[in-house]
Amino acid sequence: LGPRWLSVLPAAVMDSIIIQERLVERLLSPRTQAQRSHLAKLKDHEKQYVGFATLPNQVHRKSVKKGFDFTLMVAGESGLGKSTLVNSLFLTDLYKDRKLLNAEERINQTVEIVKHTVDIEEKGVKLKLTIVDTPGFGDAVNNTECWKPITDYIDQQFEQYFRDESGLNRKNIQDNRVHCCLYFISPFGHGLRPVDVEFMKALHEKVNIVPLIAKADCLIPSEIRKLKERIREEIDKFGIKVYQFPECDSDEDEEFKQQDRELKESAPFAVIGSNTVVEAKGQRVRGRLYPWGIVEVENQAHCDFVKLRNMLIRTHMHDLKDVTCDVHYENYRAQCIQQMTSKLTQDNRIESPIPILPLPTPDTETEKLIK
Ligand code: GDP
Repeated sequence: LGPRWLSVLPAAVMDSIIIQERLVERLLSPRTQAQRSHLAKLKDHEKQYVGFATLPNQVHRKSVKKGFDFTLMVAGESGLGKSTLVNSLFLTDLYKDRKLLNAEERINQTVEIVKHTVDIEEKGVKLKLTIVDTPGFGDAVNNTECWKPITDYIDQQFEQYFRDESGLNRKNIQDNRVHCCLYFISPFGHGLRPVDVEFMKALHEKVNIVPLIAKADCLIPSEIRKLKERIREEIDKFGIKVYQFPECDSDEDEEFKQQDRELKESAPFAVIGSNTVVEAKGQRVRGRLYPWGIVEVENQAHCDFVKLRNMLIRTHMHDLKDVTCDVHYENYRAQCIQQMTSKLTQDNRIESPIPILPLPTPDTETEKLIK
């Protein structure tokens, strides 16, 4: 209606025209109306939306850009398949330049520490992987304290981190702390050997130990079950603290919970490694070819290799790093600080007659803020 008509129409007629117009509008464009109200709701919602819900994305983007690092130690008697397993786990050849010693050279051999570092990238995520190998462990005629160079190495990395953390350039600290130690147990014994017990006891407060039964293809399933049981009992008996898988969250889905249960029941993992690809049932797989058949590394019916790989890389890498930082490094740091303060107190007692003042107790206002 034009403005000329509007001015002469009585109020009642005007009302009915407006109602009719609204009806027509609604009938002609019901979706636009719905969209409008939805938009209004969104606007209202946006008024209450601060934006911190994007924090996980920001953290994700930043950590992907920075890249990840992980340090894995492998230890155990030579010839138990450590290098082969590491190559199978990360699909790389980390031991190209390895020199194998003969028996004579090994008589007085001391344990060496050899580091291999590779940068791996998968779907844009970069991982700097460091493998710390310990050739010579358990190889000499006298193996007394052969774990000493290994514990020293772990302590040195903690010390370096502690120094860097207390220094000026804290932003660019290179973290060389050992996040996990795969300890290889021989499949040929009847459980743990004394050197295994001593090694694990010497290291369990410093690093996450994951015990493995090496070369599991040398045993039949019932023997593996028995050996696992025996090792579990001995670990308990000698008070060895191996890496404990964290409790599964109650809100996880049933499939994840089942996987978690199976993972815990399978420890210590019985593993098989291979550097060769063979053909099994028309498929190319990593495996070991015997005259009587093929042992497939990634077949869960043959061994626990997949469980170990999933645990190390897909599900527990972050937890292994957290436990290293929050438990093992914290222990080291607390001991260091304790030693430093006790030395300082002793020195002060000798050199200065002034008593060390106790720390002031915080007033209630500060206490409230701290809480
Ligand atoms: P390392 O000295 O502990 O690093 O042992 P290596 O990885 O060099 O392996 C020593 C030998 O054992 C090599 O001949 C490997 O082919 C073999 N080997 C490695 N892994 C396995 C396995 O899972 N089962 C069997 N039966 N042999 C293996």
